Amino acid sequence: MSHIETLAVHAGMDGLTEASVHVPSIDLSTTNPLRGVESGGESYENLATGGTPKPGDSAVYQRLWQPGVARFESALAALEQAEGTVAFATGMAALTATLIATVTAGKPHIVALRPLYGGTDHVLASGLLGTTVTWTDLVGLTAAIRSDTGLVILETPANPTLELTDIRAVVDAAGDVPVLVDNTFATPVLQRPLQCGATLVLHSATKFLGGHGDAMGGTVSGPDEWMVRLRQVRALTGGLLTPFNAYLLHRGLRTLPVRVRAQQATAAEVASRLAGHPALVRVLYPGLPGQDPQGLIGRQCSGAGSLLALDLGGYAAALRFTEALRLITHAVSLGGVDSLVQHPASLTHRPVAPDARPAAGIVRISIGLEHVDDLMDDILTALLVARVPVGAGSSYGEAG
Ligand SMILES: *Cc1c(COP(=O)(O)O)cnc(C)c1O
Repeated sequence: MSHIETLAVHAGMDGLTEASVHVPSIDLSTTNPLRGVESGGESYENLATGGTPKPGDSAVYQRLWQPGVARFESALAALEQAEGTVAFATGMAALTATLIATVTAGKPHIVALRPLYGGTDHVLASGLLGTTVTWTDLVGLTAAIRSDTGLVILETPANPTLELTDIRAVVDAAGDVPVLVDNTFATPVLQRPLQCGATLVLHSATKFLGGHGDAMGGTVSGPDEWMVRLRQVRALTGGLLTPFNAYLLHRGLRTLPVRVRAQQATAAEVASRLAGHPALVRVLYPGLPGQDPQGLIGRQCSGAGSLLALDLGGYAAALRFTEALRLITHAVSLGGVDSLVQHPASLTHRPVAPDARPAAGIVRISIGLEHVDDLMDDILTALLVARVPVGAGSSYGEAG
């Protein structure tokens, strides 16, 4: 069982035959009977300090351990080829736990490579969790590292510009400092950052892992030593993944390779059909010629993914385009079976400092499982609207 398609279907599904079920049962218990006062106390102590239950132990309390969450975690760890995974209520809860673990280890300084997800940028810029941040890029990375630097954070492909960053080069430049890669956009189907030397991989499981826009979750995968600390933070702070969402996310993993590849194929087709369209300044998609100058596709990741960004040249055109789409839903989020569009500068990247905010003409599209021709019909119609505004030359004050 070594291929990702097989792992996606079968990982985390052990013990089902013994339980005489075909899919995991959803256990909603908030508390669990204890076998004795002494053994109950020992189990509590073990789990509250980040341990995992020994065979026959009570799970004690859902905030300490939940069997369906543990199944999902072991499945994702298999896909990311990690020693372990710890799951949280959301991607932001996963990031929060990681930052708390970093601060409490006495290393509160974070080096972050922009652009990042707007929420990640916001929580780092705010210093809310006791971190300080230095924003940099690969070139400035080594100089940005200090004796109290606890973590380097990057995303590749980046949100929303879809630029690729060389993970190995970042790991080399970071030296002894652990590197966290937000792998939400690529998923383990296309990219396994731990194999490139990263220490931790973060997911907003809300996106591709669940894949159907109906469950929030977040994960961090990496070495056991980190997993213990993260489970301890989770037990103490309570940013839990619920049993039902763990079930949905685990189910989502089973179709992840098929969905990611099908969505990617459609995105590549949309990007190439749109390249050179007169209403567009640029199509941002790492699979297009010239957009992967370092040749990372095929080396670091196996494909360009299913997100693309269109630069319409200005805010007014981006607004007209976004609002004219009919099949593609105007909504935040990404990675689901249906296509979504959003305008990062006014929405997800609103809290980002103005000089680091994406250009106002950029819209980001997450390509779903619809037929490429139907998506193209929708996009081309909206591009006509974007280009020739109603009452052109009057209130909009901008062409194309
Ligand atoms: C959505 C997202 C997050 C945050 O995840 P939530 O589940 O919304 O908390 C973090 N990183 C990236 C790249 C995302 O797209």
